[in-house]
Amino acid sequence: MENCIFCKIIKGEIPSYTIYEDDDIKVFLDINSKSNGHSLVIPKKHIKDILEMDEHTFTKILNVIQTKVYKVLKEKLNCDGLTIIQNNEYGQEVKHFHIHLIPRYKNSNIELDYDKETLKPIEDIYSIIK
Ligand code: 5GP
Ligand code: ZN
Repeated sequence: MENCIFCKIIKGEIPSYTIYEDDDIKVFLDINSKSNGHSLVIPKKHIKDILEMDEHTFTKILNVIQTKVYKVLKEKLNCDGLTIIQNNEYGQEVKHFHIHLIPRYKNSNIELDYDKETLKPIEDIYSIIK
């Protein structure tokens, strides 16, 4: 899609540090890394978010993470764990589906903030959702 920064990365119009690629998927380092090896997994076709995602592509993406990328991150960077984040709509800066792979290290802390001001008791939330 025109003016989509990740579509431009796929076309090679914007350079990226690509660590895995196949016909459907590209994985590259996040330019603003939260930890060493922070990577983004994206479909090559322009899919906006999880609501637009199809089962075939989603399955392939998860399989690539599980069988290929996490192994590379563990073997090459010696990470101790992996945190997976995926933003949709609000909180999503780039409107081309992407999964953040954030390698975790015992000696390094990343901030995953929550907002005490707006947090309601868990019982209230459950009674609304159920
Ligand atoms: P979001 O907030 O949409 O989940 O995350 C978008 C991510 O894309 C951010 O972590 C940001 O650093 C990354 N990003 C934005 N533009 C570029 C770029 O041109 N190259 C790379 N490698 N990452 C980018
Ligand atoms: Zn795109």
